[in-house]
Amino acid sequence: MLWEVLRWAVNAASSHHVVVNVSKGLLVGLVLLIIIYCLERYYGAPTGQYRSRHFGYDALYWLWTYSHLNRLLFTSAIIGFLSGKLAVLNLNPLHGLPVVPRYILYWVIVDFFAYWIHRWRHTSSVMWAFHTTHHSQETLSFATVMRGHPVEYVVTDLLMFVPLLVLGAPPKAWLPIYYVHVFMEAIQHSHLPWRFGPLYYVFASPMFHSVHHSVSAEHHDRNFGGILSIWDFLFGTAVTAAQRPSKYGLQGIATPTLVSSLVVPFRVLRETYWPVAERRTVHVEKAS
Ligand SMILES: [Zn+2]
Ligand SMILES: [Zn+2]
Repeated sequence: MLWEVLRWAVNAASSHHVVVNVSKGLLVGLVLLIIIYCLERYYGAPTGQYRSRHFGYDALYWLWTYSHLNRLLFTSAIIGFLSGKLAVLNLNPLHGLPVVPRYILYWVIVDFFAYWIHRWRHTSSVMWAFHTTHHSQETLSFATVMRGHPVEYVVTDLLMFVPLLVLGAPPKAWLPIYYVHVFMEAIQHSHLPWRFGPLYYVFASPMFHSVHHSVSAEHHDRNFGGILSIWDFLFGTAVTAAQRPSKYGLQGIATPTLVSSLVVPFRVLRETYWPVAERRTVHVEKAS
């Protein structure tokens, strides 16, 4: 069994795949950089983030995510192995609906699951530890959307696989939706002052998601929506701020380097399950 999984992973993660994926990531990233930078300049939004080394770190996260190495090596290997056994879950309940409403429903249902998974990443102390990699960024830019810990990506991908399997959506249904997703989530992490007018209550705008990254306690665990903000308004987790937060990140957690942003979940886990006070007690007991 283990050999089967490893062989699948090695074949999937061929260097050709990785080079193609990284090139795609570079191209999509450059197109977004040009579009979003020009829009930010046009609206008089800050652009200093692009001169920060933190933007460089997020750009590396962007390329890593796009390389799909994380998925090819871990998630796809597990999913590839399980999919045969879980085929019974492929209920395809929307089969028979015309293409347009079917694809819209795929999108809305998956976004609904994404909302609850995001909430869980904030309420589960283990998942929160890994989600701190995303939230510890104090210099937001569109590339921050891809700043996620590899462990978090594996768990999220595995969970998202369930609704995709049940819905039975073919891959071609996902490609346009995927790019809309990338664009929407990229602008949410930009400095564009967009609220989307009355659509603020339906779609997650840059203003809406900026609050999710606020360092202020009253904004914590709010505005989880990925594409749709409507879930937050329905389930009582929305908060509306008149202006963007003045500071982003997490109180008491700094990730000045790329390595520290990858290591921070393990520090958070240690503080959660073995806080300093307890470590000191053990130390004193040993010494006495
Ligand atoms: Zn979050
Ligand atoms: Zn975010």
